[in-house]
Amino acid sequence: MEKKPFVNLEQLKEIVETYPTPFHLYDEKGIRENAEKVRQAFAWNPGFKEYFAVKATPTPAILKILKEYGFGTDCSSATELMMSDAVGFSGHDIMFSSNDTPLEEFKLADDLGAIINLDDFTHIACVEQVLGHIPETISCRFNPGGVFTISNGIMDNPGDAKYGMTEDQIFEAFRILKEKGAKRFGIHSFLVSNTVTNDYYPMLAAKLFDLAVRLQKETGAEVAFINLSGGVGVPYRPDQEPNDIMAIGEGVRREYEKILIPAGMGNVAIYAEMGRFMLAPYGCLVTKAIHEKHTYKEYIGVDACAVNLMRPAMYGAYHHITVMGKEDWPCDHKYDVVGSLCENNDKFAIDRMLPEIQKGDLLVIHDTGAHGFSMGYNYNGKLRSAELLLKTDGSVEMIRRAETPRDYFATLDVCEEMKKYL
Ligand SMILES: *Cc1c(COP(=O)(O)O)cnc(C)c1O
Repeated sequence: MEKKPFVNLEQLKEIVETYPTPFHLYDEKGIRENAEKVRQAFAWNPGFKEYFAVKATPTPAILKILKEYGFGTDCSSATELMMSDAVGFSGHDIMFSSNDTPLEEFKLADDLGAIINLDDFTHIACVEQVLGHIPETISCRFNPGGVFTISNGIMDNPGDAKYGMTEDQIFEAFRILKEKGAKRFGIHSFLVSNTVTNDYYPMLAAKLFDLAVRLQKETGAEVAFINLSGGVGVPYRPDQEPNDIMAIGEGVRREYEKILIPAGMGNVAIYAEMGRFMLAPYGCLVTKAIHEKHTYKEYIGVDACAVNLMRPAMYGAYHHITVMGKEDWPCDHKYDVVGSLCENNDKFAIDRMLPEIQKGDLLVIHDTGAHGFSMGYNYNGKLRSAELLLKTDGSVEMIRRAETPRDYFATLDVCEEMKKYL
């Protein structure tokens, strides 16, 4: 599928008059249309709820939009819990799916009334120790081990992943939790990341539904919800077909009707914790070409770097790049598009065929709406960029300002000599 930015050059030129590059730009219209589709795809399940994975885009203005669709948040840390609370999520609208959890974070989650999703069997004792009780609603994360393969060969190795409990452990966990007063149980599992196929959720659902039937039968615990978690992907590459969320919802419904309904479990709610699918395509990183360099390769230096978007450096991830205003030019130049970090993996693209780039050209790096800004860091003393929202009426709102040196130095007892920079 051809990848087109959600803004054009004219709009961007106007935006950069007010907000200097680099910045992340989000598309409110795209976010809303997609959120509405997600809601429709699972409307057959009255209890359905999407808990947006806050770590993907921890920005209150974005969370507020998603809240309008009845979604909750999925948090992995204390600060994500705090942000969810501040934005107005409360009680069971918050899922706390963390791992290697600091004990005091269980306390904060419980104080907010969040649903706690236990990553490990031993966390039962931890929760009991810090809360003094076991919450009535509780969830357990399942890891089937081995290798999980889906139709188009996409697979992952749950057996190598640090998350979740074994099957024996989850049975034992349900028995113990029930004994200790838990009344409503959930099952959670996340087996493959960024799946670009409509089969992942249905296949995962079948596995978890089957487990749920056996768990309920053998332990007597009431399974109230099944959480398919994240993992629904997006087409980062132009040759990939996007997922069809309606087909995914129907696929889950088929398994529900095949496995849960005959077992008398037609009340089970389906939960999701999608991050990437909810936001990735509706954000981009806007950056300007500031240098060209001709050595053993052709380089374009841009004013963004890996601190603004870490995925290419960290996983070799592909992010499509559009040179604005040159969409129809031939892609007859081979470039490495690089940032300024003193790290040779700070490359947004390697050997990428692009139109000829001149200094001053604006580049749009696609699909940075999830796991983009949020993975940012401060290596080389680089500062995090602003985040902007392109609103449905075409106006632009700054939803997070760029960092300043004062932010960078804020954790130091600044010496007199440095004060002149603040
Ligand atoms: C990261 C994460 C998600 C979101 O994953 P996506 O791939 O962005 O959909 C959901 N749940 C948990 C527990 C996670 O760690």
